[in-house]
Amino acid sequence: MQTHILGFPSIGKKRELKQALESFWKGSLSAEALLETSNDLKKRHWQVQKDAGLDFVTTGDFSLYDRMLDITCMLGAVPPRFAPCLDDSPLDRYFSLARGDVRRNIPALEMTKWFDTNYHYLVPEIDASGLWSSAEHPVVADTKLAKKLGYAPKAALVGPFTWLTLAKAQDGAPKWARLKDVVATYEKLLASLAPHCECIQIEEPVLCTELLPEEAARQFRQTWSALNAACGGKPLLLATCFGPLAGNLELAANSGCTALHIDLVRGREQLDAVLAALRPATSLSLGVIDGRNIWKNDYAKSVALIRQAVSALGKDRVWIGSSCSLLHSPVDVAEENALPEHIRNRMAFAVQKCAEVVALNTIIETGDMAALKENEALLLAAAAHRENRIAEVRERASSAGAADFSRQSAYPKRRAAQAWLNLPLLPTTTIGSFPQTAAIRKTRLDFKKGVITEADYKTAIRQEIRECIEKQEKLGLDVLVHGEAERNDMVEYFGQQLGGFCFTQNGWVQSYGSRCVKPPVIYGDVYRKQPMTVDWILYAQSLTQKPVKGMLTGPVTILCWSFVRDDLERSEVCKQIAFAIRDEVQDLEKAGVRIIQIDEAALREGMPLTRAQAEIYLQWAVDAFRLASSGVEDSTQIHTHMCYSEFNAILPWIARMDADVISIESSRSGMELLDAFTDFHYQAAVGPGVYDIHSPRIPSVEEMTALLKKALRHIAREQLWVNPDCGLKTRQWEEALPALENMVAAAVQVRETLQR
Ligand code: GLN
Ligand code: ZN
Repeated sequence: MQTHILGFPSIGKKRELKQALESFWKGSLSAEALLETSNDLKKRHWQVQKDAGLDFVTTGDFSLYDRMLDITCMLGAVPPRFAPCLDDSPLDRYFSLARGDVRRNIPALEMTKWFDTNYHYLVPEIDASGLWSSAEHPVVADTKLAKKLGYAPKAALVGPFTWLTLAKAQDGAPKWARLKDVVATYEKLLASLAPHCECIQIEEPVLCTELLPEEAARQFRQTWSALNAACGGKPLLLATCFGPLAGNLELAANSGCTALHIDLVRGREQLDAVLAALRPATSLSLGVIDGRNIWKNDYAKSVALIRQAVSALGKDRVWIGSSCSLLHSPVDVAEENALPEHIRNRMAFAVQKCAEVVALNTIIETGDMAALKENEALLLAAAAHRENRIAEVRERASSAGAADFSRQSAYPKRRAAQAWLNLPLLPTTTIGSFPQTAAIRKTRLDFKKGVITEADYKTAIRQEIRECIEKQEKLGLDVLVHGEAERNDMVEYFGQQLGGFCFTQNGWVQSYGSRCVKPPVIYGDVYRKQPMTVDWILYAQSLTQKPVKGMLTGPVTILCWSFVRDDLERSEVCKQIAFAIRDEVQDLEKAGVRIIQIDEAALREGMPLTRAQAEIYLQWAVDAFRLASSGVEDSTQIHTHMCYSEFNAILPWIARMDADVISIESSRSGMELLDAFTDFHYQAAVGPGVYDIHSPRIPSVEEMTALLKKALRHIAREQLWVNPDCGLKTRQWEEALPALENMVAAAVQVRETLQR
């Protein structure tokens, strides 16, 4: 059997790439030095794969910023607004596309989530007029280098079909008309790669989304017959990941590829169907090692899958690999010295995952049961640890009954019960955070480092809250917030206080470009130790007559932005978190906080890629929100917030969350998403963001009154709230204050016209 991984993280175990990139952008590192760091990282990562005993090392997985952008640049698909950059060096132009050209005021390519992962790619734009001139892809030089150094390279590329499917056509440009050009460039690339590599991996994760329409399927077949012809007799691996192939299985199986890679972590159930659909000559690569988490593999489970494939196909036609690129997992557990042993023992990051692929192969090839036994013992020990299973937590979760998932009354009755809040028509509020100044960040850091005492820290944060409340009062906002000065991150803040969570020192994962996140780790049963937010909110409330909103992160968002244990269903982990948040909600209510917001920023992005899986997810995810939010009186008002606008398709689910008020992003799309509210009868209150907080621009009163009037065409006046798109923590006060002043003025103006 052949062994491989789909890709290794680029960033480096000490985030060397991040440091190099950021120094280069600041001008303190030369282009040569940046490329030298990059090459060192590539070599180091190839050596990891070779040391592990993998049959190939992957090339083309490394990118200076983003692999989609690498393809965009190879194709020369540069949008016309970048014309002034064409004479810059290729490296400068590359980064201008990625980050915008500040000097010439050219905005960057748009960025969006890579399938259902937390990685972001740069969205290709296709203009009708754009002239493309292709350039060499870095994978060619990298593959030659790897070969020269004695490695056996497998060159990896995002596929042409996926690239074009994800590209955004500008002003109705017919993007599929470009397919020919795209494929022609790939053909050239494959031809120049073939002599230098063992195998070529083309990734088409789009096949794991919904069933492709017939026209797209035709384009896929055409594309792949061209690719097969262009690879100079070298094996062509069609890599799919992030879900089962489901409706597109036939298409993938008949692509003519030498080997088909499937994700057996997110699409475990597909193996039978794939084995049945595979052509006689095609090999199958089994993605059994999870590329998206941090846990050791359960060898017994993987071995069963591999054996099934081997008995159907024979060893020669089976490959073993990671489910997807290891881009989504941190680099090396060896860098973690502070974790309790029982947790560390369970972990496998990218380096360890390479070894796991090989270990599985060895077990099958040699029948050596020692490794299997050792793995089994280790997982058993983890399962036996007392924090893994806490009787009270399990009992509570399993005893949750229908009443725990529902408010006391339906919305209309709650609305009447909340009238005591005495809010005006078109109430104004914000999403939670206020600008996080350098002073605030220093205060938190000083406290963390022990430079200041807890008492000093509390005094400093209280001071911030006081100023924040004063500013909001002056602005004339109706529902105030405490400003979140004590929070570094909306998930980490809660993770640090909950049982069952821990934090790595170096578990960084690339989010985009040089940006990384270090997700909290959920390793055990989750429970709340004590109130987490009550004191801060009460302090804020003590300073004003206006209502202050309690501010919590929802269970689904905490789950989606963490590394989650894999020995318990995600839905169950989510339920445990939901109970912890529910306790906090109830404590806030008891303390007199009667408006409580539970943010679910990640609900939409956590959705699996196929409709069937998405339905199952939405069911338990919405249930978790309901569990967290429903333990309050009718007269307490529950808010939720979501920062994206593409949720027309899931509006019925949003309605099922049964929040009293929901704030959503919409200013950039000009309230477009509200169309959905016309078709779907949504009865609760809605605050479509009128101020785009992602931009430093200050929107005018007229702009925002126009947006509000537009919103009123879709929803009743009694339903409409006025708020920004999202929290203000990345903005400066100089931007936020005038913008909010205008927002309040707009609300007042529109309110007056309604009352006249
Ligand atoms: N309450 C959070 C804030 O204002 C919400 C952030 C988010 O939705 N991403 O910062
Ligand atoms: Zn948001």
